[in-house]
Amino acid sequence: MAIHEECGVFGISDPRGDCARTAYYGLYSLQHRGQEACGIATINDRELSYHKDVGLVGEVFTPELLHQLDGTMAVGHVRYATTGGTRRENAQPLTLKYVKGTLALAHNGNLVGTQELRTGFEYRGAIFQTTTDSELIAYAIAQERLRCGSAEEAVVRAMKLLRGAYSLIVMSPQKLIAARDPWGFRPLCMGRRGDAVIFASESCALHAVGAQYERELEPGEVVVAEGTQVRSIKENCAGASSHMCIFEYIYFARPDSDICGQSVHEARRLAGKYLARESAVDADVVIGVPDSGLDAAMGYAEESGLPYVIGLVKNRYIGRTFITPGQESREQAVRIKLGPLRSSIEGKRVVVIDDSIVRGTTSRQIVSLLREAGATEVHMRSSAPPFIAPCYFGTDIPDREQLIACQYTVDEIRDMIGADSLAFLSLDALHRIAPDAKCGFCDGCFTGKYPIALD
Ligand code: AMP
Repeated sequence: MAIHEECGVFGISDPRGDCARTAYYGLYSLQHRGQEACGIATINDRELSYHKDVGLVGEVFTPELLHQLDGTMAVGHVRYATTGGTRRENAQPLTLKYVKGTLALAHNGNLVGTQELRTGFEYRGAIFQTTTDSELIAYAIAQERLRCGSAEEAVVRAMKLLRGAYSLIVMSPQKLIAARDPWGFRPLCMGRRGDAVIFASESCALHAVGAQYERELEPGEVVVAEGTQVRSIKENCAGASSHMCIFEYIYFARPDSDICGQSVHEARRLAGKYLARESAVDADVVIGVPDSGLDAAMGYAEESGLPYVIGLVKNRYIGRTFITPGQESREQAVRIKLGPLRSSIEGKRVVVIDDSIVRGTTSRQIVSLLREAGATEVHMRSSAPPFIAPCYFGTDIPDREQLIACQYTVDEIRDMIGADSLAFLSLDALHRIAPDAKCGFCDGCFTGKYPIALD
């Protein structure tokens, strides 16, 4: 089974120092992208230090650790993986020492067709300690660095060997290098705080550290920061296409982020509006499943004219339910995570919006929570189309056998989750949720059509 990575990356170059602390705050705001493990690597006077462990950002780092780590560059990572286990070895940034010095690397995404590359490296003497793509990327960069004059050139050359999704931040003793794959699968933006240079998976992290958003990196682009100087290399942009993961807008990113010029919140609100137009129903109130269903519920309410009310309250101290793999714990997790608000629901016909239905576990639990709290009718709406195919590019959409929409019709799913009605957003509407985005999309999990041919 592939290791699915849903991660967040952050990097800063600031000659004034205090980079570890900034990275810590940046990672804190990217915590929604991965709750399994995290880490920060820094450079101080060309010396690499790092700390990484399993756990949340606030658990792994202490003020003392951040003080010890301080430096003039930092790269950080938050990690989530469904398989590959909760192992410290898999935490990033990945760090290595080789003849040209040190390298630290943080990666978001998933490569495809890595077997050939890996075997090729192994026949030439490589010894890999993990099965992660990130180690493969680090090795490719280190190997190319032996054949060219600079770390950034090595990144540019290594990219030509890689296929799939990668938003990368690489730190050499003197440079911080950000790179986005030529398909532009995962987001990666840059900004400035004064003259300090900052890279992050999402713009919410720039805001958190008091930086100004500048722009998204282009697909295939490499940006090198040396001190406060920045240089862009577009050698791999020629022939690049743009296939941003559309699921970032629906579920993954934070609503206060802008991705490729599109507000995530507005995209979700639009999805809710379209859903109301496509699947109207007689009802009394509209509620959203926190967190990523709320914005769409607001849009649905606006469009339908039904009142938007708070119907489910989320325990603030719990991560996304998918942290706990395994069916039994997943069911328990929903009850721990969400409490129904009886006063909003009792005696009402309720439209409930969630961002997506994967296995159907959450929806079934939510319908039953709402009925227990006195709802007379429950109309489930998904602000994403049905998942019909897995994701190979860095989002944890499981195999077809586990995807309820692969196995059953909408009516069957409605009966299985116990709802009075069920509807999904149409594919046509999906393609209209991000009108401000200056990019194209990958919608492979909803269509089974991917921008890269799979082996
Ligand atoms: P399920 O219970 O398996 O149907 O999962 C649906 C819930 O999982 C929804 O509430 C979503 O917010 C959430 N979800 C959607 N996509 C993902 C994903 N890639 N990884 C984890 N959880 C997800």
